[in-house]
Amino acid sequence: MRTIGLLGGMSWESSAEYYRLLNELTRERLGGLHSSRCVLYSVDFAEIERLQVEGRWDVAAEVLAEGARALEAAGADMVLICTNTMHKVADEVAAAVTIPLLHLADTTASAVRASGLRRVGLLGTAFTMEQDFYRARLAAQGLEVLVPDTAGRSTVHRVIYDELCVGFVRNESRQEFQAVIRELVAAGAEGIVLGCTEIELLISADDCPVPVFPTTRLHAEAAVGRALADGPPSPRESR
Ligand code: GLU
Repeated sequence: MRTIGLLGGMSWESSAEYYRLLNELTRERLGGLHSSRCVLYSVDFAEIERLQVEGRWDVAAEVLAEGARALEAAGADMVLICTNTMHKVADEVAAAVTIPLLHLADTTASAVRASGLRRVGLLGTAFTMEQDFYRARLAAQGLEVLVPDTAGRSTVHRVIYDELCVGFVRNESRQEFQAVIRELVAAGAEGIVLGCTEIELLISADDCPVPVFPTTRLHAEAAVGRALADGPPSPRESR
């Protein structure tokens, strides 16, 4: 089994989900007492969020690059950045290590394509919905990406930072998300990408009239698939 390296804490509410999912998926595949071999490097999210707001992405990239190097030194065979938003600095993180980075936009795009859908609505932080680093990566795989209008984006962003990242899951917010989702579906979205790793704490397939793509689960599934992949492991992977 290969060792999964998690760059987490962004927020820890979703990192806890990653940890649970990695272990559940490994047990489903291997049975018995099997669990995921993984290493977690967890940052102080307040520090990262301040850098986001100040636009100091270069400093944030260095914080995450340092984390990735620590994961590699601890024996990780791959790195996952456990947040969609911080994939804005994915290239810098990937360049800091020799082990592969499992890019969240790629695992998401693969799942959407496998479903046969092409036009998706994207929910996430304002950074993810409004900037190009994530949308362009989905578009590069042939997907058309719709985002909510200004009011919808502001609602989704606020709920992520003010509620989900600090452990509040509120019915009222679920209803607000459902209204945003309905607008995206009316605009032509065939599926909804839950493009923030906390959104699946609030929204499930039952809350949505079209298929959902939960990025935390999809990322965890891809990592476990890679960790348990058939084929001869490299010498360091055979520990
Ligand atoms: N976990 C969130 C995401 O997937 C937001 C927190 C962050 O800004 O990293 O984008």
